[in-house]
Amino acid sequence: MKCAPFDYVRASSVEETVTVLGETDGEGKILAGGQSLVPVLALRMARPAVLVDVNRIPGLSAIRRVEDTLEVGATVRHSRLVEQTEHPLLAEAARWIGHTAIRSRGTTGGSIAHADPSAELPVVAVATGATVTVTGPRGARAVDAEDLFVGALTTSLDEDEMITAVRFPLPSRWGFAEFARRHGDFALVTAVVTEVRGRPRITFGGVSSVPQRATDAEQALSDGRPAAEVARTAAEEIEPTADLHGSVEFRRAIAAEMTRRALAQFDSPREHSR
Ligand SMILES: Cc1cc2nc3c(=O)[nH]c(=O)nc-3n(C[C@H](O)[C@H](O)[C@H](O)COP(=O)(O)OP(=O)(O)OC[C@H]3O[C@@H](n4cnc5c(N)ncnc54)[C@H](O)[C@@H]3O)c2cc1C
Repeated sequence: MKCAPFDYVRASSVEETVTVLGETDGEGKILAGGQSLVPVLALRMARPAVLVDVNRIPGLSAIRRVEDTLEVGATVRHSRLVEQTEHPLLAEAARWIGHTAIRSRGTTGGSIAHADPSAELPVVAVATGATVTVTGPRGARAVDAEDLFVGALTTSLDEDEMITAVRFPLPSRWGFAEFARRHGDFALVTAVVTEVRGRPRITFGGVSSVPQRATDAEQALSDGRPAAEVARTAAEEIEPTADLHGSVEFRRAIAAEMTRRALAQFDSPREHSR
């Protein structure tokens, strides 16, 4: 199937982007890497009247250290996250995104805005307490990642707002484990254990519509409980949804195992490999 017809605007600034989006009355869409949007258009699951291409906007493709965070511009490709060395958790997570072609086009802003429940970057954003910088017609605002994801493929962004950057705090310790049926598939379960600003976080992707934290398990980890107990607490605490890929019980079992693996890395950092 082919896309329905649309107007195309190549934006040269963030201000132009939000102005055009505002003028379309909800019928406009940002085009970043196109790795999620274009298949949706091709299947005619969306028929935006206008696509606003943000790929040529200067200043959105930078990665820079800001205090204890790594600020990643909206159009930074997943492959650049893999290559950078300042935020090893982000590099590890980005390695798990799809295949080479997808990583070389897909962007950080696009992945966060698309809010796929199984995507890696939203989980890392919640796991590190990231802040998302958003610009709209009324100016810029900062949104906590936990407040951004409100449902599967749904964020709290307004239709005329654009993500310009994401600040990912640098964890002092971390572990990342993911289970997918085939290499390059979306995750069935991702578990990320971090220590950020002195506090542990245990966060899951793929188990429900938004990244989920397991706060009882975080407390157990803070209390120095054994890894097996922390993992069991996490798996019991989360509320997985069943789908054609697995039952609730299956996801809980995988979540317990992924937590154990992430905790092993958290306790004794080692080389990560896919
Ligand atoms: C075969 C395949 C396998 C994949 N596997 C994985 C995987 O394992 N893990 C994973 O995480 N992802 C996976 N992806 C998705 C990929 O990571 C996409 O790159 C990502 O989800 C969207 O980024 P994009 O830059 O391509 O955004 P686009 O496709 O251009 O846009 C996606 C959505 O976000 C909006 N948007 C884009 N940028 C912004 C912005 N700056 N501000 C506000 N809204 C914006 C668009 O309007 C659109 O609604 C896969 C994709 C494919 C095709």
